Amino acid sequence: MTLFPLFADLRDRAVLVVGGGKVAERKVRALLAAGAKVTVGAPELTPRLAAAVDSAAIAHRNGRFDPAWLDGIWLAIAATGDGALNREIARAAEERRLFVNVVDDAELSTFQVPAIVDRSPLTIAISSGGAAPALARHVRSRIEALLEPSLGILGALAQRWRARLRMKLPDPIARRRFFERIVLGPVAVLIRRRREREAEAVLASALARIDADDRTGSVALVGAGPGHADLLTLGALRVLGEADVVLHDRLVSADVLALARRDADLVEVGKDPGGHSVAQERIHALMLEHARAGRRVVRLKGGDPFVFGRGGEELEFLRAHGIPYEVVPGITAAVACAAYAGVPLTHRDHAQSVRLVTAHCKESLDTLDWRALAAERQTLAVYMGVAGLDALRDRLIAHGRAPHTPFALIENGTRAEQRIAIGTLDALPEIARAHAIKAPALLILGEVAALAQTLHWFGASPLTAPSRTAARAA
Ligand code: SAH
Repeated sequence: MTLFPLFADLRDRAVLVVGGGKVAERKVRALLAAGAKVTVGAPELTPRLAAAVDSAAIAHRNGRFDPAWLDGIWLAIAATGDGALNREIARAAEERRLFVNVVDDAELSTFQVPAIVDRSPLTIAISSGGAAPALARHVRSRIEALLEPSLGILGALAQRWRARLRMKLPDPIARRRFFERIVLGPVAVLIRRRREREAEAVLASALARIDADDRTGSVALVGAGPGHADLLTLGALRVLGEADVVLHDRLVSADVLALARRDADLVEVGKDPGGHSVAQERIHALMLEHARAGRRVVRLKGGDPFVFGRGGEELEFLRAHGIPYEVVPGITAAVACAAYAGVPLTHRDHAQSVRLVTAHCKESLDTLDWRALAAERQTLAVYMGVAGLDALRDRLIAHGRAPHTPFALIENGTRAEQRIAIGTLDALPEIARAHAIKAPALLILGEVAALAQTLHWFGASPLTAPSRTAARAA
């Protein structure tokens, strides 16, 4: 069945709902929201419908359905739950050439009510033509997740400015370009930050300077999570879908990059741990260049941009250059790797605190407070540490951490090739070497790490000290 989609203006138009139960109640609510003049026909009403009748929000026809109820009606909905009665209503409506919807009966209906995503004034309606309402609902919830709640505010703002935009930009193509560049760019960013007044000001000044062809883009600093695309936030998915340019770290996985807008430029600006392939200044310059050219830039980083990600420096730079920005957090490696290794970072029996530490070179090791790091009943999550494991072990033990403290070293956490090596602190560097653990890897040290052995659930089983494995196999 091919249906013709339409959005009906029901303001002050008479609509009849037959039925007084919960389903009728839902239909009445939606009709009232559209401004319809609703009459409910039924011998009995739910308390809410009865209250609406009492407050004169809706009218009531008491008793069994009578075709005369359809007089003067624009649209009818049968929600009686009684098959024979619904058929009778459908027939009566058909005779009068009235559109009727019989709830949950596509066969009897001459119009259907779609599943909707409401971002008023923007409304998205989804229909499967009655073939698979569950599929339509599924699509609805996916779209629901893709469209941020503030879209309605943006829509309302666009509505307020529509006449002025048309006057200033009579050419529809120029108007669309302006809309995409300004309204969906910096204005949308400000709206998402709930700065409506500033958004309006940006729009006003952009419109005023239109002839000077001022072009400002924006930058979203986005956390891509540790690799598995499931771990992206809805916010990240949205800005990726809108991006003109994606400046991404090397660590960002191909699965995540695949979610960027199809014609977005993907530019790798990643740094190997140690090997600085693209200097920070170069990244700053690229962000500036693209934003100034009016592009929507996504600066995509592994994990969370504010955890060992130099996100702070990038924002300071953008701010100093007047580029509008927003930040979309990501799931940081410690949180994600712990989850995918079955290691709770805190545990009532073992650890009351977690420390996120980075130890990527000799100098950074020297600046750490080892006494505090060696304290018991806490979990250490060490980033960028594979190269310095010997020094890490020696210093922790020298400052009092027990040599038998368990660790879990997670390589390529959350990715298909994830590996976990487990053991105790005294043997940490040897075990890591035995399995040739490479970056990116995250070290979790503390009593909780022992739980990986029993609670791990993702990917390959944890690797232990090779000699022990051999002994057990023998
Ligand atoms: N901003 C990132 C961290 C960047 S530093 C975040 O919040 O996660 C890079 C370090 O993060 C790596 O050296 C490694 O220690 C860790 N890391 C990132 N992704 C990882 C992964 N998939 N598995 C294990 N460790 C990871």
